[in-house]
Amino acid sequence: MNLDELLHNENLSRDEIVYLLNLERREEISQLFQRADEVRKKFCGDEIHLRGVIEFSNYCSCNCLYCGLREDNFSIERFRMTADEIIGTAKLIYSHGIRTIVLQSGEDTIYDTDLISFIIYSIKKEFDIAITLSLGQRGFQEYQSWKYAGADRYLLKHETANEKLYEKYRDNLKLADRLNHLRYLKKLGYQVGSGNMIGMPLQTVEDIADDILFCKELDVDMAAICPFIPAPFTPYQNRKHGDALLTLKSMAAARIVLKDVHIPATTALDSIEEDGREQGLKGGANVIMPNFTPMPYRGKYTIYPGKRGIHDEPKAAFASLQKRVEALGRKISVSKGDSPKLTSE
Ligand code: SF4
Repeated sequence: MNLDELLHNENLSRDEIVYLLNLERREEISQLFQRADEVRKKFCGDEIHLRGVIEFSNYCSCNCLYCGLREDNFSIERFRMTADEIIGTAKLIYSHGIRTIVLQSGEDTIYDTDLISFIIYSIKKEFDIAITLSLGQRGFQEYQSWKYAGADRYLLKHETANEKLYEKYRDNLKLADRLNHLRYLKKLGYQVGSGNMIGMPLQTVEDIADDILFCKELDVDMAAICPFIPAPFTPYQNRKHGDALLTLKSMAAARIVLKDVHIPATTALDSIEEDGREQGLKGGANVIMPNFTPMPYRGKYTIYPGKRGIHDEPKAAFASLQKRVEALGRKISVSKGDSPKLTSE
């Protein structure tokens, strides 16, 4: 197979994606990253979009086998932020010039339809900022109410497009339901993000190729691909974490296949690999999601352990982030960073 031709193929097949994920020679891997960087530049430009994340509740009614927040994990201290604390943190994010916030939690219905609507409305009323919700699988009516209240985007990772593995990892939940929710969110007009994990137990490279094609079929606006990191007191606590290089290759392949989508260089990647964020940004990624969860709570949102930057004050963390971005010759966007699919229309 001619690698250069393959990297310029507009419609890569499953086998061709697998071929890219299996590349081993250093020069060939560099070629893959370089091509992903070109595609990123062509479809998304050079700016890096920041999403300020507020992890406001670590309660979750699900029992995903890989996740530290699973309901049956009694070893972690649970917390919930008040609406005032969440709105105050949104203000802090806005004051840093960031124009997207991500409201993230486990599946926690204590934050009911009205409370989340109130929080969205209160933030949107005061600040010209985009809101991404990452609240797990919730009710169809709720998605609708939150859209009316002003939410712009919804992040709901599919985690794996392999039905059997999905049921296994997510304690018998169904992939078909996840897909229905994702389709409904799109129908409501949300910009939709999905994504998957790399290095999960029993996962193959073919599964990863299917994950990328799943995102293509769904026509997502963002694809978040991050390494699996085992969390203590979970059924997968003794497994190995996902491979950083395979994660980077998957992100690069996703960029080449999906083209005009946002791809974050995730904190999880940065947590297992020195300069993981920079490597991601050089190989197709164009988004960073700095954590603004207030200090009393931040260390308790333990989806996985060893999260980088967990003790950094927002101001210092933001300054260091700016330096890291500038060192790459890129610059931080001052826009809301809507989906490239919308802005190119
Ligand atoms: S992955 Fe999400 S839904 Fe599953 S247990 Fe963790 S927080 Fe809950």
